[in-house]
Amino acid sequence: MYRLAVYHNCSDMRINLILFGPPGSGKGTQAAKLVEKYGLLHISTGDLFRYEMGNDTPLGQEAKSYIAKGELVPDSVTIGMLRNKVEANPDVPGYIFDGFPRTIPQCEALDALLADMDESISRLIMLDVPDKEIVERILNRGITSGRSDDLDQAIIQNRIDVYKNETTPVFDYYAAKGKSVKVAGVGSIEDIFIRLCSEIDVL
Ligand code: AMP
Repeated sequence: MYRLAVYHNCSDMRINLILFGPPGSGKGTQAAKLVEKYGLLHISTGDLFRYEMGNDTPLGQEAKSYIAKGELVPDSVTIGMLRNKVEANPDVPGYIFDGFPRTIPQCEALDALLADMDESISRLIMLDVPDKEIVERILNRGITSGRSDDLDQAIIQNRIDVYKNETTPVFDYYAAKGKSVKVAGVGSIEDIFIRLCSEIDVL
């Protein structure tokens, strides 16, 4: 709690995390626990898109066809949506970016957005999970998530391929700045959470 109070009062000491990893690696589950512990604002671009689609907004309609195929929504749409969310919530102890950035232009846009607020990314933490376990986890999640992109094995595979081909350079982009770390994303939810906290508590 003491750390939280300190960060709250020092805008230059906020914690801005990127929770990184393939679809189904547990980012959403862990983000919820991190929010509870550190009071950060969780921003999931996937959740934002699902909200827009649920309300059938023009943005949701535009995103729909890409999401249904497991493709990335174009950067122009995604970056604008993310920027709106961050700018609408400036007074938080920091952000957890989940599912963003997924391309290098998104990294550059995020860095510029944070720089405008005299901030930067503190750490990118990747949840490392083997491919086989990912597919099983997503299919299991699909039973209750109501997400059509969690139910079809071909779409799941495409999301994994897109992650490997288009999104993994994001890890290297922040590694070049000395900010990327990997933690094992297997084991119990609590064990994974402890690994994440040990990366955050040294910041
Ligand atoms: P997620 O909930 O993070 O798995 O995202 C679900 C889907 O939303 C992805 O398969 C993409 O179609 C889309 N999406 C989410 N975040 C992004 C992003 N940063 N860039 C492009 N598309 C995204």
